Amino acid sequence: MSLAERDLKVIWHPYTQMKTAQLPVPIIRGEGACLFDEDGKKYIDAVSSWWVNIHGHAHPYIAKKVSEQLSKLEHVIFAGFTHEGAVELAERLLKILPVNQQKAFYSDNGSTAVEVAIKMCLQYWNNKGESRTKILAFKNAYHGDTFGAMAVSGRSAFTAPFDSLLFDVEFIDLPDKTNLENLKSKIVNRKSELACFIFEPLVQGAGGMLMYEAQYLNELMAHCRNEGVLMIADEVFTGFGRTGKCFACNHLNELPDIMCFSKGLTGGTMALGLTTCTQQIYDAFLSDDRLKTLFHGHSFTANPVACAAALASLDLFLETSTIENIQRIEKLHKEFALKIKNHLKIKTTRQTGTILAMEWQTGNNTSYFDSLRDTLYNYFLDAGIILRPLGNIIYILPPYCITTEELYYIYSKIEQALEEI
Ligand SMILES: *Cc1c(COP(=O)(O)O)cnc(C)c1O
Repeated sequence: MSLAERDLKVIWHPYTQMKTAQLPVPIIRGEGACLFDEDGKKYIDAVSSWWVNIHGHAHPYIAKKVSEQLSKLEHVIFAGFTHEGAVELAERLLKILPVNQQKAFYSDNGSTAVEVAIKMCLQYWNNKGESRTKILAFKNAYHGDTFGAMAVSGRSAFTAPFDSLLFDVEFIDLPDKTNLENLKSKIVNRKSELACFIFEPLVQGAGGMLMYEAQYLNELMAHCRNEGVLMIADEVFTGFGRTGKCFACNHLNELPDIMCFSKGLTGGTMALGLTTCTQQIYDAFLSDDRLKTLFHGHSFTANPVACAAALASLDLFLETSTIENIQRIEKLHKEFALKIKNHLKIKTTRQTGTILAMEWQTGNNTSYFDSLRDTLYNYFLDAGIILRPLGNIIYILPPYCITTEELYYIYSKIEQALEEI
């Protein structure tokens, strides 16, 4: 029996309709921007393995650091105990994060990083004796799949079975120059109940690589600041270079109170979540009253192996060659977008940093479940490229080490698809 057949007997895959799913591709190794299957077929990973990988697969430096850590300390309970990796990682990250970020709270994935952020905000007001319990979020947002994270995400086919159980959130449109005043007045109207505003800065990833301008987000944030509404920047996807700067918040003048990270944090090697916050938020939990404690934690909080991977990834991230690679990808994306943007089958192209999204023209139905999505997915897979369209939107967000030749190959196959599909 093949590995794919054995898989089908025992495994239930995420985001997969198991009745109709094609057999999964068995990957046996990775190197640079490429993955290789059982038969030796090579795939260029144009989506960074669900947006997590930034330095390439099986990077020898990260592998070495992780392996050294494994024979030193693999895990320790993180309440009442600490370890070198967790402390060093927090020290080093807080140095490069926006200056108001002062404390680091670890968890183990992006959804939990968001859960922690939400709890910090809600309990912040609770500890202060104010009843602010409403959360403001953007339509089409995606903040994760656990219940709290799902509640602050846009309602969609994915949340439908649970909608009646999700807490009520105030959803607003992405800001632009036409609606900014309207959005501001919505905030003023509800300010006494608004605990916080959560957003994906500049790019809504899972929502369809929807992009919006820093300028209008800045204005919205300044307004929240004035009205006392706390701000959570969910940088789970945008963090660590994706948008062309270290963090998407580096494009902003306003500073969020809380930031969430995961995906690129360990270079895509290990699961790790991180929520950072200001001194002001941290201080609201300091008390002789034990009930003001943040009662939250996960078994694998600040796992030492994950911290070692994150430290190694950070070393690589801060090398000048990484920023050069990010700039190279930005430039190549820009040239390609210009080249195809007037193609009849392209509705729009949009780009922020290393993320290039192209919306395919479809006659009518443009949902995630459109058959065009599967056609495109399989077309690129056959060509040895992993592109995972969101409905009719294809996007490229490669590991930063991707070569120019590999990028050109992806571009050429997209052009070919435009002619053939
Ligand atoms: C992926 C993602 C999450 C959830 O992270 P998981 O590790 O998949 O739970 C949260 N927020 C954003 C913006 C994401 O892209």
